[in-house]
Amino acid sequence: MGKIKRLQHALSEKDNDAAFLLQGSKKTLFVILTIVCVMFVPLAIKNILVENYLLACLLGLFILLVIIDVLALHRGQVLPINKNAVMTILVASLGITINQIGASAIYWAFPMVISIIYILPFRSSLTFNGIILAIVTFEAFIKTDSASAIRASVALALTIIISGLIILHINRLKQNLINESIRDPMTNAFNRRQLGSHLSNCLAQKQCNDIDSGILMLDIDHFKKINDTFGHSTGDMVLKRVTQLLFKHIRETDLLFRVGGEEFLLLMHNIDSHTAKQVAEKLRKIIEKEVIIDNHPITVSIGISMALAHIDDDNWMRYADHALYDAKESGRNQIKMHQPLSDY
Ligand code: GH3
Ligand code: MG
Ligand code: MG
Repeated sequence: MGKIKRLQHALSEKDNDAAFLLQGSKKTLFVILTIVCVMFVPLAIKNILVENYLLACLLGLFILLVIIDVLALHRGQVLPINKNAVMTILVASLGITINQIGASAIYWAFPMVISIIYILPFRSSLTFNGIILAIVTFEAFIKTDSASAIRASVALALTIIISGLIILHINRLKQNLINESIRDPMTNAFNRRQLGSHLSNCLAQKQCNDIDSGILMLDIDHFKKINDTFGHSTGDMVLKRVTQLLFKHIRETDLLFRVGGEEFLLLMHNIDSHTAKQVAEKLRKIIEKEVIIDNHPITVSIGISMALAHIDDDNWMRYADHALYDAKESGRNQIKMHQPLSDY
């Protein structure tokens, strides 16, 4: 791959590791849309034959838009057609069908509300399903007796509520799964999994748009001694406290990774070297001042390295490591900046 292509790839790469968890739902969406598409073709043809052109046109348009989306999904692209537009056509078709055919067309509303809950974001699905419920209730009371109308409306309302609860539950599970795959359970910092793509992204932005980024490599000083003196569980508590302090004092856009036992990498996008140094010094002081273990100050050493246009992510981390090593060698509890012209 050429250099520019590699940079573009890095720029466009969006949390690929987490994305694999969503592959299943994309496949299901592909299957649902294909089935819907195939089922609606005879319906559209039937409406042309009976000269019901309004419904035939709506169904034809719906099929066309779904085909465009299915092809995009098949190629692994994002859906090109606005989902709300497709659903609006579908709901209009349902309203017209119930109005023309009568109460028996209400059965179509059931698969429709479930598909809408699956396909649309939760809030939009509530709006669309509310409209469908209103249409069905209205038409049912006009076209059937009140007992049947109530039965149809309540059954549809229950279908919407139950499928909504199931989708909420699935979404929560999916989110937990994504979190577990990318975060360290003890500290809640990101694990190394996506570090490479984030670093490449920042380096690409440095090269293409001259946007500065910096990394802080932060290591707790004499951590082994803490474990040896106070026990492993106190060591764990120190790790958690230090990470909590870091999370509390970094920007929302900064990303904190746990890259080793007691070693963390803070990736700061869009920051100049002077500010990066200030942030490092601020974090160092905050941790030094915090009483985590009585009469035993916890300190950290920090190595800073700024993104350079001509380096890769491994070298960027290596430079930060060199700076950290420098801070340790100079007596610990201090920050050191990697000097790009130094001869590493
Ligand atoms: P330095 O100041 O040079 O960084 O010295 P250090 O003692 O901090 O560094 P060293 O690499 O010698 O020791 C790191 C220790 O961290 C060794 C390892 O047992 C401990 N450690 C690694 N992961 C964990 C963890 O999850 N919990 C606890 N409690 N200890 C851990
Ligand atoms: Mg250490
Ligand atoms: Mg270490």
